[in-house]
Amino acid sequence: MDVVIYPDPSLRRGGAKVETFDDELKETAKQMIEAMYRQRGVGLAAPQVAIDQALLVLNPTGDPADADQEMVLCNPKIISKKGKEWGEEGCLSFPGIYGEVQRATKIVISYQDLDGEEKETRAEDFLARVIQHEMDHIDGVVFTDRFSSVEKLRVKPKLEALEERFKTNA
Ligand SMILES: [Zn+2]
Repeated sequence: MDVVIYPDPSLRRGGAKVETFDDELKETAKQMIEAMYRQRGVGLAAPQVAIDQALLVLNPTGDPADADQEMVLCNPKIISKKGKEWGEEGCLSFPGIYGEVQRATKIVISYQDLDGEEKETRAEDFLARVIQHEMDHIDGVVFTDRFSSVEKLRVKPKLEALEERFKTNA
């Protein structure tokens, strides 16, 4: 399972609602977690591996030894949010690009687990940031969309280099 790199069109396609909670879904989630660790990420959304489903995996420590902190969210929705804070983010689909994004500091989300069971959880600070970043992928939104205009200008040459590389490899 490979992570797609900007400007791969999968990133804009987003993810449709997960309807079938079967072994295939569990296997997909397992492979996504492996790919996330392999790439030293803290989160990965299905559109980033060219799967158009509302599925995301994360571990805020990024350390496979902390398997107890892994989360798999199907069909996540934000129920409420509080506070706003700018913080630096990166993305496995944008190698070498980092920038400040404003996110809510406290969120309450609903989601379904891999068995389709409805759950609710709250998250703060970094974990809340990771969840919001990955949820954006499900909507076909990428973190550079949320950069300030100054930041957008700053990363433009790097984005163009990735676009050039995509064209060459296509
Ligand atoms: Zn990302």
